[in-house]
Amino acid sequence: MPIDSATANSDITNLLDDKETRWRAAVDLAERWSKPAILGTVVMPGPDKSGRIAGMIFAELAAALDDRAADCKWLIHHREIRSGPAGPSIMLIVSEGDPRAVKAQMVELEEAHPVGRLFDLDVYDLQGRPVSRQDLGIAPRTCLICGGDVQECRRGGKHTLLELQAEIERMLLGMRRQAVLAMARKAVYAMLLETACRPSPGLVNPSGTGSHADMNYLTFLASSSALAPWYGVLVQAGAELQGQPDALLHALRPHGIQAETAMFSATGGVNTQKGLIFSLGLAVGAAGYALRASCRPGAADVRSAVIRAAAPLQDELRGLADGERTPASGGERACARYGATGIRGEAIGGYPSVFDHALPTFTSLIDAGYSVNDCLVGALVSLLAVVEDTTVLARHGLGGLRYVQSQAREALRLGSVRTTPGRDKITEMDTCFAARRLNPGGSADLLAVSVFFYLLEREIPPEQLLGPSLFDSR
Ligand SMILES: [Zn+2]
Repeated sequence: MPIDSATANSDITNLLDDKETRWRAAVDLAERWSKPAILGTVVMPGPDKSGRIAGMIFAELAAALDDRAADCKWLIHHREIRSGPAGPSIMLIVSEGDPRAVKAQMVELEEAHPVGRLFDLDVYDLQGRPVSRQDLGIAPRTCLICGGDVQECRRGGKHTLLELQAEIERMLLGMRRQAVLAMARKAVYAMLLETACRPSPGLVNPSGTGSHADMNYLTFLASSSALAPWYGVLVQAGAELQGQPDALLHALRPHGIQAETAMFSATGGVNTQKGLIFSLGLAVGAAGYALRASCRPGAADVRSAVIRAAAPLQDELRGLADGERTPASGGERACARYGATGIRGEAIGGYPSVFDHALPTFTSLIDAGYSVNDCLVGALVSLLAVVEDTTVLARHGLGGLRYVQSQAREALRLGSVRTTPGRDKITEMDTCFAARRLNPGGSADLLAVSVFFYLLEREIPPEQLLGPSLFDSR
């Protein structure tokens, strides 16, 4: 026997052995738990069962199974992910005891999910027998390409491997497009929520213009509308990046400049959200980059892409500190004069003020049932207390920054949005910051970034949008 066909034969043996092993494991689990077992695998024709494409589909499958279990209010008793020659697989034991009810949900998932046709969700009863579609009176699955009988197409070798792979690629592209749109929606949502919350000391909101004379909430709506379509472009640029993430900023920059032009044109030349284009734009581009590995990247995946993407900013900061680079903005002058690292430092560190302060604050307030407005205000105050805001530094120097931070710390000490004295303090800050023309724009940008990272992992409960805000009931 020639060597390559011997190798092919041993590959097939390994594959069949692996399929047997995982089937056995699923049946053992069903017996051990006295519950039906779910075995989820990926439909992947051809020899490469564990490549990048199989990995992406599998990540979707595992996440979709978890979502479905949550939707059905099933407890997950056992969850196990395996890999082997037959590809990745997941085994699940849930609290639902009726194998047919479990299978019905699995069939629904295979039919409804955008790439569910590439999921194989088997269910075994307590005796280790598979529950089939026919057992539920549902038609068997049809061929991926022609919609005919799968077994017939397979027996007749009706479609080539290339044809099947091309169809899978097409389905994945559709899923990627959905993921890009979903990511852009999160960015726009985060941007809008930041502008809408009140009181927001020194900042524009629906009730006032903070420390600003040249813009109001409507100016922000105009500018946000101009920026909205660009988030999709930035996600896409990240997703299409050739090479390593340290090339990301370079790839995002031309789109950022066009977004800036759109903003200035919508506001009649007023700078409403230039800082946001940088901070949120980088997070969004990094999220696009993370989409290459999974259609549902988590906050940690995107954060690590931000850190790698921001590494080249070290040189810019060094240039500003050494005086080799001429400051091009108020923020950069503040960096040069006070040795502050500003938003560049935040990006290089993977937004530490977001991850250490605003995000935990926002999440715990959401979980405690506060209105979304008050969760946003609470997160903003936690940022004001720690951020080296170069927008404040540029106009008011170190004294101004220390004042902002000490006021916010005092609000935190009093309980922030959770207590009446804390809320009174925040309301007082609102008046004082406006009177002193203090504009903590850098912190506002980081609030939008915090909400974006929150949305990568969870949705905001819609009922909490309705409030009422504790600031209104005073
Ligand atoms: Zn067919």
